[in-house]
This record gives sequence, structure tokens and C-alpha cells, in this order.
Amino acid sequence: MTSLAPPLTLQETFNRLKVRSGVLRNEPLSSRKKRLRDLESWLHANRERIRAAVHADYRKPFLEVDTSEIYPVLSELRLALARLNQWAAPVKIDAPLSYLGSRAEVRFEPKGTCLIIAPWNFPFNLTLGPLVSCLAAGNNAIIKPSEMTPHTSALIKELATEVFEADIVSVVEGGVEVSQQLLDLPFDHIFFTGSTAVGRVVMEAASRHLASVTLELGGKSPTVIDKTARLEDTARRIAFGKFLNNGQTCIAPDYILIDAAVRERFLTLLKKEIRNIFGDGQDISEQSASYSRLATPKQYHRLNALLADAVQRGAHADPLGPSNEKERFMAPVILTDVPPDAQLWQEEIFGPLLPVESYTDTAAVISRINKGPKPLALYVFSQDRAFQEQVLQQTTSGSACVNDCVLQFTHPHLPFGGVNHSGIGKSHGHHGFLAFSNEKSVLRQKNGFAGPYLLYPPYTKGMKKIVDALLKWF
Ligand code: NAD
Repeated sequence: MTSLAPPLTLQETFNRLKVRSGVLRNEPLSSRKKRLRDLESWLHANRERIRAAVHADYRKPFLEVDTSEIYPVLSELRLALARLNQWAAPVKIDAPLSYLGSRAEVRFEPKGTCLIIAPWNFPFNLTLGPLVSCLAAGNNAIIKPSEMTPHTSALIKELATEVFEADIVSVVEGGVEVSQQLLDLPFDHIFFTGSTAVGRVVMEAASRHLASVTLELGGKSPTVIDKTARLEDTARRIAFGKFLNNGQTCIAPDYILIDAAVRERFLTLLKKEIRNIFGDGQDISEQSASYSRLATPKQYHRLNALLADAVQRGAHADPLGPSNEKERFMAPVILTDVPPDAQLWQEEIFGPLLPVESYTDTAAVISRINKGPKPLALYVFSQDRAFQEQVLQQTTSGSACVNDCVLQFTHPHLPFGGVNHSGIGKSHGHHGFLAFSNEKSVLRQKNGFAGPYLLYPPYTKGMKKIVDALLKWF
């Protein structure tokens, strides 16, 4: 009679990875590349499984799964494979005169065993993207995908078993409790993507072991449109960037501040573009093959409560289609005249509600943005270079994009991340590699006489002259 071994506890799984991480640091780059290539092959061979899983979770259109879940991971993989030799090579550092004769370099060593905690929006991309950087930097990882997208999470677990050894990538499914048990373990680095509130919990847990963290968080991303903006392009780009993934995108425009002179024309164009992109020219119906569902019933109720609150306080709501609780379907809703005390100004909207507010004074726009927590992204639509620069220079945000939105996320060479409330640390491409690497300084001293000898005690009068020169010149 054969008996199945009991599943490993989280501690045992962690211990196994920890032992392997000691071996990984001595492996050649070719082993890391093999893992990345194996993952790349799996993605190509399993495109239909990925599409089916994400679609089952929230009816995300198949082509959107290709472009926003699979392609970004492939693009990370290709870049890492092409640049890994360069990224991992030690960087020689020039010595100042006082270090004459010594040699210095920075080496990039793996941090060790990492924890990746992922959210439910873009559930495949935001789990596998960080994993690429983690493996490229020579680490191993435990992944905790979101419990809110069970089909995708189950597939990620299958992927890990089909592609990697158990002590290279291990996937642990589960909710808050499991996440908290994982956070009790002494990981070398924690890469968390999710809400600002949970980001705090993660940082507090990390502080117990002094684990380094990358926190990719959320927040309200403002979008400013002045009267010189090309309104057709602006409306088309915002319609896509805001309602892609049913608005459940961390960098989606959260609200619009628009010059009062062009508000009415913009609203007309915006509605036209939303209907063109997601409804074939009509209102967005449940039959639309281009429009996602809300991921969870909780999301549906939260967004409807935000909408009801705004309307009850006097906002005007313009829905471009129906809303259906059973289907978790919510068509885009444009809101105008939303009073300042409405709840939707207090929290990240993260759904298909778009408040549009007009302004007459640029300084007031900037001061309004600066009153809130620092945003993850900020968008400016304008043909006026001075206006663009004024907004960019006088505000702070994790990223910014001029005359488009969301696109900065997919640029392979730009760092991605927030600032303070919207995140700590950067990811993507080389920046992701660095996030998972310890930049170790190595200094080699020469034999015989060395510059620092001049500063060794005894502290004589002669030495004072040397110190005076040091303070003044070196
Ligand atoms: P969330 O913070 O609720 O959950 C994220 C992960 O943390 C999940 O795996 C969840 O199981 C776990 N978790 C939840 N509560 C926890 C707790 N108390 N202790 C430990 N772990 C816990 O986020 P979400 O609802 O899945 O995602 C939406 C949020 O993520 C939005 O705020 C959005 O802006 C943000 N986000 C940011 C980025 C980015 O790159 N900056 C990308 C996507 C989403």
C-alpha cells in the first residue's frame, strides 16, 4: 500500500527554498536563463489555458488577456533574456585620488528567498511579471496569488508545478490568513502589489525581519486637460485607459479636471469614444465582447454604493448602459457636479465611474492634487508645453504621462512604481532586476603603502595639514 506524503507546512516549504537559495547564488547565468526560457515556452504553449482562466474569473475579453496579461510578461521575459549578461555584470567604479591604488566594483547578488503577493486585477500579469525579475536576479520565490481570481490562481499553481522545481517557485493559494502566515516568515525580499491599506500591513510585517520591500500600491490618479488639448485624441485615449479591465486598473485615470471652456465638447466626445470602443457605437451592453466584468460581488456593491452616495449628494450621473448585480456587470458611468463631500473623492475608485470636474484656475488644480496623497500616476493632456511642465514640475507622482494614459506601464525601459502612499520601490525590466538584487560594494585594497595610512594616529601637527587639505580639496 502506498501512502501519500502529507503536504509541507509553510515553514517547511520556506525552509526548502531557503536551502536552495544558497545554491542558486553560485549558479551560472545560463541556469537562470533556462528557467526564463522554460517559462516563455510555457506561455506560448498555454495561451488558451490562460485566456480561459482569466475569462472564467471576470469575463475578461480573450484579446485583452493576450495584450494585458500575457504580452507584458513575455515582454519582461524577452528583455531579461536579452539583457541579463549586462545587468548581472559587476560595474567597475572609478576611484577618487584619495583611494589611489584600490579597486572598486558593484556586484549584483541575489537577495535570496522572496515572497510575491499579488492582487486580483491583472491577476496573471502582476504575479508573473515580478517573478521574471525575481528569477532573473537569481532568487527563488513563494507566490501568493489573489483568492479573488480562483481560476487564474489555480492555473498559476499548475504553471509552477509544470515549469519549475518545487524549491525554485512554490505557489501557495489562500486568502488573508495564509498571506499573514507567509508574512511571519523571514523572507529576504517581499514584493507586494495591492491596496495602500494592506501595503502598510506588509511593511509592518517586513519590519519584524527587516526584509526589504517593493510595495506597488494604489491611489487616485488625477487627469488634467487644458483648453489646448486635442480633444478627439484625449477622449479616445481616456476612454480606453479608464474603462479597460472595467476600470479595475491601478493606473487608470481616477478623475478628470478639465478647463471649463472645453468641458461640454469633451464630454460629448468621451461618450462617443466609449461607445465606439466598447459598444460598437451603442451603449455598452452585457453582450459586449470587449468589456470586462467586475471581479467580485464586493466590488459591485462598493461601486454602486459610491455611485448612490454621489447622486444622493447632488451629482449628475450619466450611465452608458445597464448594471446587473447577478452578472457583476457595470457599464461606464460619467459623473459631473460631484460635491466635495462625496465618498468617491475620498477613496480610489477602481471601477467604471469617472467624475469629470471643470476648473478655471490652474493654480487651484495643482494645489488640489497636492492636497491628496501622492498619486501612482498623473496624466496631462495639453498642447501647451509650458502648461505640461507646470503640472509635471509642481506635482509629484510615481509616474506621469503626457497626452496619453496607462501607456507608461508597458514601456519596457521605464521604472514603474509609486511614491509614499502609492508605493515604495520600482519594478519592470532593469529596475525589477535591481529590486530583487543586493547591490554589493566590493573594495580591493592594494598591498604596501595606502592613502588611509596618512590618517592613522598619532594625530601630529603634520597630520593636521593633511586633514586640512582633505577637508578643503578631496
Ligand atoms: P488587496 O490589498 O486587498 O490584496 C492584495 C493581496 O494581499 C491579495 O493577495 C490578498 O490576499 C492579500 N491581502 C489582503 N488583505 C491582507 C492582509 N490584511 N494581510 C496580508 N495580506 C492581505 O488588493 P486588491 O484588492 O487585490 O487589489 C486592488 C488594489 O491593488 C488597488 O488599490 C490597486 O490600485 C492596487 N494595485 C496596484 C498596482 C500597482 O502596480 N501599483 C497594480 C494593481 C493593483
